[in-house]
Amino acid sequence: MSYCPKCLHEYADTVERCIDCGRPLKKGRRPVDYDLELEDLIVPVGSFVCALFALLMLYLRVGAQFGWVKGPIANLVVLGQPPCMTAFYAIATIASTIVFAVWLVRRILKKD
Ligand SMILES: [Zn+2]
Repeated sequence: MSYCPKCLHEYADTVERCIDCGRPLKKGRRPVDYDLELEDLIVPVGSFVCALFALLMLYLRVGAQFGWVKGPIANLVVLGQPPCMTAFYAIATIASTIVFAVWLVRRILKKD
């Protein structure tokens, strides 16, 4: 058994190069767990950062409106943003959390 180090497709021992990408094959079975590439991290890191930022803005927005958050930042948030931004931050928090959770579940299921 041999496999392509890039595509991770397995081939019979008589095959020397990957049919898809043309790389020389490695001997043995393909590794079960392979390293994440940088481009695989764009969606999870992006959604995680968006969820954190939206949650922070939601906290500031609601906190400034109800008086838990005070000071110049609270004034800026209340005076500078229309009230509908609360709904925007809530939707952004939920949506980006769902995207991150779906990625996480898929990643966990792929390992088995
Ligand atoms: Zn290949």
